[in-house]
Amino acid sequence: MLQQLKGVGEKTLAAFHEAGIQSLVDLMHTYPKRYRTYVLENPHQPPQGKGYFEARVLARPSVFQVRAKLKRISVPVQVAGRQHQLLFFNQTHWLRHLKPGVLIVFEALYNPENKSIQAHTLMLRKNFTEGIIPEYGVEGISELKMRQSLTQARAIGGIYAYDPLPDWVVENRKLLPYQSFIRRVHNPHHAQDIEAVWARLSYEELLRKQVRALLAKHALQRTKNRASLLHERALHPFLAQLPFHLTGAQKEVLLSLIDGLNQPTTLYHLLQGDTGSGKTVLALMLAYLVIQRGEQVALLAPTEALAQQHHKVATQWLKPLGVEPVLILGGMSASQREVAEGLMRQSNTLFIGTHALFSKRMTYRQLGFVIVDEQHRFGVNQRLAMAQKGEAVDVLYVSATPIPRTLALTLYGDMELITLRQKPSTRQPVTTTLYPLKKAKVLDTVLESALARQEQIYLVAPRIEEDEGLLSIERIERYYTDRFPKARIGVLHGQLPRPSKEAILEAFASHALDVLIATSVVEVGIDVKNATVMMIFHGERFGLAQLHQLRGRLARGSLAGQCYILYKGTKETTARLNILETTDDGFLLSEKDLEYRGFGDLLGEAQSGAIPYRFTSEADLIAQLEAVKADAQAILQDPHAHERTIQHILSLEQDS
Ligand code: ADP
Ligand code: MG
Repeated sequence: MLQQLKGVGEKTLAAFHEAGIQSLVDLMHTYPKRYRTYVLENPHQPPQGKGYFEARVLARPSVFQVRAKLKRISVPVQVAGRQHQLLFFNQTHWLRHLKPGVLIVFEALYNPENKSIQAHTLMLRKNFTEGIIPEYGVEGISELKMRQSLTQARAIGGIYAYDPLPDWVVENRKLLPYQSFIRRVHNPHHAQDIEAVWARLSYEELLRKQVRALLAKHALQRTKNRASLLHERALHPFLAQLPFHLTGAQKEVLLSLIDGLNQPTTLYHLLQGDTGSGKTVLALMLAYLVIQRGEQVALLAPTEALAQQHHKVATQWLKPLGVEPVLILGGMSASQREVAEGLMRQSNTLFIGTHALFSKRMTYRQLGFVIVDEQHRFGVNQRLAMAQKGEAVDVLYVSATPIPRTLALTLYGDMELITLRQKPSTRQPVTTTLYPLKKAKVLDTVLESALARQEQIYLVAPRIEEDEGLLSIERIERYYTDRFPKARIGVLHGQLPRPSKEAILEAFASHALDVLIATSVVEVGIDVKNATVMMIFHGERFGLAQLHQLRGRLARGSLAGQCYILYKGTKETTARLNILETTDDGFLLSEKDLEYRGFGDLLGEAQSGAIPYRFTSEADLIAQLEAVKADAQAILQDPHAHERTIQHILSLEQDS
């Protein structure tokens, strides 16, 4: 029991529970997100990047008020016989510790020639322990508390008596055996320990994905007994009202999906295609056909903004045909819910919504078809929960994150993969221009004229906080607020609470904001037709496919788009970005990503991306995936392994 642990009171317990840690076993199997190596550097030979250095305080610090909320603190110190002014900001609690003679450790980019040194972190020397320290990043639990709890938990128990992986897996895949893995994952001594630990972690992660995918497939594949076959002819009224003709690619995909829906076993397909290739329209047509047959259809979207957008489009196309789509979101009022529940008893309805669609209170009458948009945003369990709202449900996953076919076959080999490659030719172009970050100011005129035309702007940055020479969202906000005082600027990032996120997106969508400054959260299906300019800061920090996804937010209506990718670094290190200026093929770009970025990103899609997959080549990746997949199949067939391994695997991650 977690309560047994010293120092774990009610507050800590609540934080553990919040993080899904219910027992000592859960605690021991909460792995570090990363490791930090703490060693004191030799000031005579400082490292290239940041490092930790020892210093002696020479005199009392002085404080300088830079501006309203910014204090600069300066303290004279001695580092290996040299004197420096050590500078840091705002952390005034340090003032009382910094007395002459006190030994401290600071983290900085250190150059012995510099008079003043900017410190990133400070510690008292006596509190600095050299070694490799795991970082768990559990919300509400300090790293120290986490380490103390783990040390106690290990003494009391909290680990399995056996390796949860079958022996043959550990042996064949040359993994660390469980006992030493658990010891080292929380307490590595050498860099080699970390290597071995990551190897097992990434194996477990891949195995978890495969096992879950297989379980999901087993759970969903049913023989169905449908009233009648679907026929494309029934689509004529739908097609007649579209202001465009379907592309050849769309027609082909449409026919093959209708064919899939007419098979005796339930459909289990993944439709992938670049943003704007016309997937949503196809999904709505299929929904229409199924509804005509008297069944209910659910269209699941990862965010309220996207669900609302789908609802708008669906209403536009389906209402004239006598189908009124119903929007279901979390936090609806009692009366709204009553209306929705009344409709649930009616067949031939299209429900569109977020996670609320598969909440407990939703009981469908005859759910025949589920469409999951941006499927990778949902955990396997969530997708299952949705599909299990009906008896034998056809499932179509939709994804705008193209992955190369070879990889997709291995990752999703159990799903039928359908690719929409061609885009409607009527789409406005997005021109992409690379720019050195330090010349960003030159682009102010571009922004200025977009604002003058009443058009909207996305500014995208990789991080919220300032780090390692990266521009922060905050810095960007400050600059553009000063520069364009009349513009209405909103800031969006993943750490905002969900209601604020959605309010900001909504404000941008309704043009209550002119500029949206955001992290890559804007990447998912947001459709604001009036947005014409995007500036992406630190393009070198993004994958090509991700940059492509980001610029896909532009030119969604009648206006063309301009995307500026601002990079920092040398021409060589940013050479991979050049291709963005010349190609608009998302699949090609994701193949290039594979070449350049070593694969991890593509797999990291489940957002558990903390574990760095180490693959040396595409062939290596595929070989490993094949191996893991074979293991997963063998494990599922082994009743003994079933108990231990599958329980373990399924208990590890909350939902992804
Ligand atoms: P996706 O879901 O793949 O991002 P959508 O289905 O939302 O793409 O289509 C993007 C936009 O293009 C929508 O405004 C849609 O109405 C339009 N569209 C879809 N198919 C065609 C087509 N064949 N010709 C012209 N416009 C199309
Ligand atoms: Mg879409």
